[in-house]
Amino acid sequence: MEFLTGALVGILLSEIAFFVTSIYLHRTLAHRAIRLSGAVTATCRVLIWMLSGICPREWVAVHRKHHAFSDREGDPHSPVLLGYWTVQWENPVLYRRVAGDKPTVARYARDLPPDRFDRLFFDRGWLGLALSGGLITVLAGWQIMVIAAVVHGVVYIGGSGAINAVGHHWGRRPYDNLATNNRWLALLVAGEGLHNNHHAAPTSGCFSFRRTEIDPAWLVIWLLARTRVATVRHRAIRPRHSASSPNSLEMSG
Ligand SMILES: [Zn+2]
Ligand SMILES: [Zn+2]
Repeated sequence: MEFLTGALVGILLSEIAFFVTSIYLHRTLAHRAIRLSGAVTATCRVLIWMLSGICPREWVAVHRKHHAFSDREGDPHSPVLLGYWTVQWENPVLYRRVAGDKPTVARYARDLPPDRFDRLFFDRGWLGLALSGGLITVLAGWQIMVIAAVVHGVVYIGGSGAINAVGHHWGRRPYDNLATNNRWLALLVAGEGLHNNHHAAPTSGCFSFRRTEIDPAWLVIWLLARTRVATVRHRAIRPRHSASSPNSLEMSG
């Protein structure tokens, strides 16, 4: 029973982390596709700190460098250059290699200078993880905390690796870039599996361009926008032409 509870808590934490990663780190900070209210931003900052220990400006820098050099020399995590399994399972090592390089972070995330909350709390990822671990221990006991932490670690790290590895290796390429669309992966990782669509139109708030593509994070963004705590820069930017045609963008919203 403890194992099942711990595993369910771990999966739930991972799903929340995937949504916050996609909505806040990726679509809001890295691509400015969405703007969030102060209260939602503060919530996301606390959640990403406690669920991943990730420093947002480092994540943004690594990700923008990925877009700048996609599958070319300089891409921090390209399966084309490094091989599928290296990116799938060594993604945290590849991430740290670039995230720990101060000039790269300063260059690619110059619009995100650290504020006093970063200096006091959010730049200390270990503190956020220790806080969430302590909170689960108090609420549910240390055994459930340990199981949840292991399951969350495997699912979040494995899922993030899959976005970078599967999403540049297997799947459909309707648009002219090396990233791929995997609808099954998109369901598991808050829409990030629609990666070919995303590389074709990085500032689109929604990653789903077809009726059969489901972008779970977009449903949350839509709700946030309806309740006026988020604004979407472009509701959808749909590349008009497929892989065989020249790139052309169509905007709406
Ligand atoms: Zn990519
Ligand atoms: Zn991106």
